[in-house]
Amino acid sequence: MIYFDHAATTPLDPSVLDAMVPYYRDVFGNPSSAYAGAREARKAIDAARDRVASILGCHGSEVIFTSGGSESDNLAIKGVAFANPGRRHIVTTSVEHHAVLNTCEFLERHFGYEVTFLPVDQCGMISPDDVQRAIRPDTVVVSMMLANNEVGTIQPLAEVARIAGSHGIPIHTDAVQGAASLDLNVDKLGVDLLSLSAHKFNGPKGVGILYVRRGTAMLPQQQGGGQERGMRAGTENTAGIVGAAVALELAANRRETYVRHCSELRDVLIAEVLENVEDAVLTGHPTERLANNASFAFAGADGEALLMALDAEDIAASIGSACTSGTLEVSHVLRAMGLDDLYAGGSLRLTVGAENTRDQVEELVELLPNVVDRARAARRMTLV
Ligand SMILES: *Cc1c(COP(=O)(O)O)cnc(C)c1O
Repeated sequence: MIYFDHAATTPLDPSVLDAMVPYYRDVFGNPSSAYAGAREARKAIDAARDRVASILGCHGSEVIFTSGGSESDNLAIKGVAFANPGRRHIVTTSVEHHAVLNTCEFLERHFGYEVTFLPVDQCGMISPDDVQRAIRPDTVVVSMMLANNEVGTIQPLAEVARIAGSHGIPIHTDAVQGAASLDLNVDKLGVDLLSLSAHKFNGPKGVGILYVRRGTAMLPQQQGGGQERGMRAGTENTAGIVGAAVALELAANRRETYVRHCSELRDVLIAEVLENVEDAVLTGHPTERLANNASFAFAGADGEALLMALDAEDIAASIGSACTSGTLEVSHVLRAMGLDDLYAGGSLRLTVGAENTRDQVEELVELLPNVVDRARAARRMTLV
């Protein structure tokens, strides 16, 4: 199989698995208990927290382990919103991951919050001026992703963080897609809250990280024991937490080689796909984009058929649109970018990783024109 879907998830690094195994097999004690085996688990969690903190450039007490990127996003937004009950306006963007979008919509529908979903340009980028204009006296939080999971556009986060900061409004970023390739130093980014998900950087699934700057008022969203300084109840996932920290450290150490390798493959993909496939466009920003993201739209192609044809060739990729019961539902990201329906229905996201090779890229490029032809025939069939 050729795996070009690293934005969806990444393989667990063998050395991460090795670091985790002892905490499943031997060190199984409950970290909150009071005997040697439990203390060892507690020590491992504390060490993992410090390792994460050193990469984010923060203090260990500002790191909360969660069950994933989705939980981190939920906790950040709801936690801050509910801690400031007098303020009921949220600023976010129209291209966020559903973990942010649906959290904001939930607060809107069930708790009467008002949410401003900022528009983006045709490259998927927001304008800091729009953030400035959207902020109100009752704005409780600004949430803007570091980089987009569908089209890879990197947002001007530091600038937006300065604007939010100048109004005294906490800023959260979903940095899940940036972990492997971007600097995660929270002071350089200027953020107060930052979400990560271990399985997006060769760590285990079901483990997330939420950075919360000291002094940020936040209410826990899950009640129970006092774990994670009372911010996230539940017996800790010791092995998962150890794995997340080791994986984040590996990612930070490998960042330069990773970026060089991936951006080389990405650039070949972009150049050759645009050259070899007719009526193809690159989606997302031409330069401000993730090192591993090559995303396209092919006029008149059926995205679902595109994926099926690739799957038949044993190639794993994604579309930016979801096809529900025969009706083509265009992705909210491509729609926000104003992409014409003719194109938006035929999107393809190729996200490469450390283990991909130039040969694999060439293999895909060779196959793609024919695959797109078939996906165009499929779309014509559904239109008649
Ligand atoms: C994958 C992803 C998430 C969700 O993370 P999970 O750990 O799968 O819950 C959130 N935001 C972005 C941008 C993602 O790519």
